[in-house]
Amino acid sequence: MTAPRLAIDGGSPVRDALLPYGRQTVTDRDIAAVTDALRSDFLTTGPRVAKFEEALAEVAGTRHAVAVSSGTAALHTMLAAAGVGPGDEVIVPVITFAATANAALYLGAKPVFADLDPDTLLIDPGSVERCLTPRTRAIVAVDYAGQPADYEALAAVAGEVPVYADACHALGGSSNGEPVGALTEMSSFSFHPVKHVAAGEGGAITTDDDDLAEAMRSFRNHGITTDHARRAAAGTWTYDMEVLGFNYRLSDIHCALATSQLERLSANVTRRQEIAARYDAGFSELSGVTPLVTREGVFNAHHIYVVLLESSQFKSGRAEFFSALRAENIGVNVHYIPVPWHPYYRELGYERGAWPTGEDAYERMMTLPIWPGMTDEDADDVIEAVRKVTSAYRR
Ligand SMILES: *Cc1c(COP(=O)(O)O)cnc(C)c1O
Repeated sequence: MTAPRLAIDGGSPVRDALLPYGRQTVTDRDIAAVTDALRSDFLTTGPRVAKFEEALAEVAGTRHAVAVSSGTAALHTMLAAAGVGPGDEVIVPVITFAATANAALYLGAKPVFADLDPDTLLIDPGSVERCLTPRTRAIVAVDYAGQPADYEALAAVAGEVPVYADACHALGGSSNGEPVGALTEMSSFSFHPVKHVAAGEGGAITTDDDDLAEAMRSFRNHGITTDHARRAAAGTWTYDMEVLGFNYRLSDIHCALATSQLERLSANVTRRQEIAARYDAGFSELSGVTPLVTREGVFNAHHIYVVLLESSQFKSGRAEFFSALRAENIGVNVHYIPVPWHPYYRELGYERGAWPTGEDAYERMMTLPIWPGMTDEDADDVIEAVRKVTSAYRR
């Protein structure tokens, strides 16, 4: 039997149409919730914001959730509330979405990049320890791909330095039964359509701390200490702007959609886990393709499904795999380019080569499609396409 010809070489693709790597699901109930918001008295700063914050805090198991306009705004607001400022250093993982590190730059602080654990691609506590200096003001771990970072190990090396979560990948996950959102003093989330809850754009920070929550509510509203509802209740027009905040408010329209989406979170995470289990089984016998490891005690929310290619086994590199799989109509992706490699960061003086594990993983990583609306047949197409391409490219 001859091997099937790759689509990139003129063979027929495994699928007729592209399977995207991620996609939101929007139901009639979601649409009705948004329509209700549009007909209501408040398009922004109304009751749907408070309702969403309550529902999110419940999922995260925290006293507070503060809704903001994006995950990026959440990271900025979180680090501002932590007191990060000029001259401070903030440790972040070398592979993440740029926003994790950019949030430190917004506040005049310096991002310091830590290397990763080779099996999970989570921030490596040993590397974090080596990055600590007297100027370290905060550590922001990323719950990469959907599993919480090792916050116990991080706390053990961090000493007095607070550890926060960029939990944008991990809503609905948990560690030893404790929900993501409650694993650190503050945790940031995104409601971009590829994330677990789609609001269009949106973000939030969860915390148990009353003062931090208050500070973040002010920061998202120009640094003003009272909102319009409190002024109306007190019968006054006066307000004080006490810090330089931003307009990072999330509208009632967005919150209506996010609240409706949140009701399906648990079912959607279960579906993501089923697809991940199907991939794990499909790749278990496939030499040279290694899925990320989920840590002991972790309930993985599987925002993305990442495999590492074993370069020594293949005559082609990741770029060829990527193009070949795209030609088979599998929407593969790469998460993420090491942040210090970006031109803006190079300009700031960061140089390649300081993070052997993360930079090596970057050259070998590939994100496969995973989203709750995918069928088992879709997942099987992905497995078939990966098998097809690996057998063509095997040494
Ligand atoms: C999505 C994401 C962000 C930014 O969220 P936005 O809502 O797009 O601003 C930050 N960090 C990580 C790890 C993300 O995945």
